[in-house]
Amino acid sequence: MIDVAVIGGGAAGMMAALEAASRGAAVSVFERQARVGRKLSVTGNGRCNLTNLQASSAHYHGETPDFAGPALRRFGPEETLRRFRELGLLTTVQADGRAYPLSDSAGSVVDVLRYAMEAGGVRLRTGCEVKAVKAGKKGFRICLSDGEAYADRVVVACGGAAGERFGGSELGYRLLEGLGHTCTPLRCSLVQLRSDNPGCRSLKGIRADAAVTVTSGGNLIAATEGEVQFTDYGLSGPAVFEISRAALEKPDTVVSLDLLRGIGEDELAGMLLHRAKSTPQLSLADVFLGTVQNRIGRVLVTAAGLKSSESITALDEKTASRLAKLVKHFRFAVTGDMGPVNAQVTAGGIRTDGFDPFTLESRLCPGLYACGEVLDVDGDCGGYNLQWAWSSGHLAGACAAEV
Ligand SMILES: Cc1cc2nc3c(=O)[nH]c(=O)nc-3n(C[C@H](O)[C@H](O)[C@H](O)COP(=O)(O)OP(=O)(O)OC[C@H]3O[C@@H](n4cnc5c(N)ncnc54)[C@H](O)[C@@H]3O)c2cc1C
Repeated sequence: MIDVAVIGGGAAGMMAALEAASRGAAVSVFERQARVGRKLSVTGNGRCNLTNLQASSAHYHGETPDFAGPALRRFGPEETLRRFRELGLLTTVQADGRAYPLSDSAGSVVDVLRYAMEAGGVRLRTGCEVKAVKAGKKGFRICLSDGEAYADRVVVACGGAAGERFGGSELGYRLLEGLGHTCTPLRCSLVQLRSDNPGCRSLKGIRADAAVTVTSGGNLIAATEGEVQFTDYGLSGPAVFEISRAALEKPDTVVSLDLLRGIGEDELAGMLLHRAKSTPQLSLADVFLGTVQNRIGRVLVTAAGLKSSESITALDEKTASRLAKLVKHFRFAVTGDMGPVNAQVTAGGIRTDGFDPFTLESRLCPGLYACGEVLDVDGDCGGYNLQWAWSSGHLAGACAAEV
């Protein structure tokens, strides 16, 4: 019987352990936190967006294009949902392809995996950090926080640096570097963005529906639509998470918000002039009455360099089109991100050219496998990152158990 040691009891590690055990291997999982699946239990705001039916390599990033392809094709979203169904988890799929447990609880995803591992005879050691892995002639010596263990094959599933509060760390990168692998520079992805635009602070707490674009040196590099949240440090919200990778990848990026998607600049300018004419008793602070939220309107008036207290009758055509332009192109120069504590995903990781994409076995160290976020593969927002964890975990577990 082959002894497989899985390092990390997160999404990828649990899937790898289950798959290896189902193929007859003797599997041990080493998890440094007190329980398995800690990060998984907070995903999707506690609901766990566990996959996306649109998952294909086009939704993934990293130095080696299509590295994720073979794993995704072998065990994709449909196989994942089927596997979870076998484990007793009912799921529901939204129109945009995002899948969630029907229970609406990430905890139930962790539970079905945990109990299946238990039932499948997987040996689980929690509160046990792996400090180093040494490759020998007859397998691996695993140095633990409280002793050592031996295995024929090792699967490193230590995750990435993002989500520090839930166990994200750089330990997995260091373990694999100790075995000869190299790591790309690491960046945050799916994270809140910092901006010095004073509008952010003035609008703190406000949510708006917007078309969001990102430019670098004037060139469009990303676009999406959805909810944006203004905060004292910059911008947050689902639409911002979605474009954050692009906004942080290139220098001098600017996020631009179109706060009135359904209406053109000229039409809006006309509406503002009409407002001025029809209600001359108002001040400029109220020029956006009926078009955008009051607080946003006032901040735009200030951003245009106008005096809110001035009479609305001061509005002329030129100023009206300046204001209309601002609503359609409210610009925020990106100055950074909110760091790995707040990020959901790490962009970058262990270089994938050191691994065979069809087995996830190391090209440098036979018998060593890696899966999940520790590798240089990160997905878009919307269930793609967990799908990579399931696909790669399944592949690594299956291949590590092969006789
Ligand atoms: C707040 C938040 C929300 C998210 N929501 C979603 C979502 O809805 N959908 C989605 O697709 N993705 C989401 N993600 C991303 C997703 O959770 C990760 O991409 C995924 O969990 C990665 O799986 P993994 O198994 O590679 O790593 P992890 O799930 O992080 O598991 C790695 C495990 O390894 C353990 N470990 C690390 N080093 C060692 C060591 N040396 N010894 C022993 N154990 C070790 C860690 O404690 C951890 O439990 C979210 C992330 C965060 C932070």
